Amino acid sequence: MKFTTLKLVGFKSFVDPTELRIDPGLTGVIGPNGCGKSNLLEALRWVMGATSAKSLRGSGMEDVIFSGTDARPSRERAEVTLGIDNSDRTAPPRFNDHVSLDVIRRITRGAGSAYKVNGEDVRAKDVQLLFADAGTGANSPALVRQGQINELIAAKPENRRRVLEEAAGVSGLRARRHESELRLKAAETNLDRLQDVVDDLE
Ligand code: ATP
Repeated sequence: MKFTTLKLVGFKSFVDPTELRIDPGLTGVIGPNGCGKSNLLEALRWVMGATSAKSLRGSGMEDVIFSGTDARPSRERAEVTLGIDNSDRTAPPRFNDHVSLDVIRRITRGAGSAYKVNGEDVRAKDVQLLFADAGTGANSPALVRQGQINELIAAKPENRRRVLEEAAGVSGLRARRHESELRLKAAETNLDRLQDVVDDLE
């Protein structure tokens, strides 16, 4: 799985539609202070399912929407699209019919955010698992935020272990185990209810 394009519109300082091509090999982003280099990395983290506003240098999830300048009004919506080359078929089975994937995340003021993969509505969890299975994602240790090294040094042991689990590629399994546990609990509740009905009938 390789990232091929990153498209932004209304995301932080990228108010106008902007498209970046991600070629094979090393990609460098250069520019003066404040031009939006970190915002690009945040867009990447956001489209992969980041849920923490703090990791996106904001206090609320809507802070990623262009907030306006003296010259331009704020926007109601932000959207980021990540183009993926899936020719090695490493995406989860439900997406594996496609040789390329477009993962879209959109947030609208007052309406929350939604995800699509190749036009199909999906859950945040599906997108997070798609990237976790490929050994990357919003919390990937490959994406290092400003100040993150200091945070890591001061972190509690269990938070530090989480970083190691991401690096070892087991975080997708952990998320799947959690989902299975929830399903198991729901099935147990249904069984209890069924038993109550059977008891009533006897
Ligand atoms: P540095 O090299 O100093 O770290 P940078 O190139 O990484 O800078 P960013 O931190 O990505 O720059 O961009 C900061 C700019 O983005 C600031 O001008 C800030 O006002 C703008 N910005 C951040 N969030 C929003 C938003 N929601 N709406 C509009 N502009 C925003």
